[in-house]
Amino acid sequence: MRTLRRSYDIAIILGILTLLIVPSVVAQYYCEPASSIDNVLKDRQPASDGKIHVTFSFNDPNISQTSKNAILNALNQWNGQGSTSGFVFEAAAAGVTGDVEFMPSTNQTETGGCAAYKPSSQRILYSHDWEQRATIEADGATVIAHEIGHYLGLDDAGTNPSTPTIMNNPVVTQTSTCENATVTTTTVQQNDASRANTCITNARPTPTPTPPECVNDSDCASVAFHK
Ligand SMILES: [Zn+2]
Repeated sequence: MRTLRRSYDIAIILGILTLLIVPSVVAQYYCEPASSIDNVLKDRQPASDGKIHVTFSFNDPNISQTSKNAILNALNQWNGQGSTSGFVFEAAAAGVTGDVEFMPSTNQTETGGCAAYKPSSQRILYSHDWEQRATIEADGATVIAHEIGHYLGLDDAGTNPSTPTIMNNPVVTQTSTCENATVTTTTVQQNDASRANTCITNARPTPTPTPPECVNDSDCASVAFHK
């Protein structure tokens, strides 16, 4: 009887521990480290519409309309989930560099041969191969929507994750290229927007609580300073 009771208690304790530990592990898995998330996302205050406005720009003034359309398609997908993510992208004023900038790159290491978010410069770099892919707008948009996900603090989810997410990755084989690679989930999910919100919220520094002021010495017994 005693042993039974004890194992029952242990089961309850294990249950509570699981509840406490598992959600934090899952959340961490999907977030980029706080240090690589743009300060704009962490520090900017929401506008009157309740959303944080993030500007974007194109580094190449001669970007093809095809490539531009694929990027705008990806931005619009994220904006469609703006009430969940808490962020909305808008074009920077003419001649002004946006908070996030789209830029062509011939450096295969930087783009991984396709496209990549570079946190040190808040740029999403795209290769010539990605421009070929973007001749089908939706295909180009899938890649950029994934990279915007990285900008918004989301980590890769691997191939065929159980929960549909734009952060899924293609199976890379010897014949896969940026142009022909496919993923199961090709568009931004509401789930992605809520995770991005969580990742960025968690990356914000915790405000230092203001110590309570004390008037009478007896109130101040446990407080480190007196007024
Ligand atoms: Zn990725």
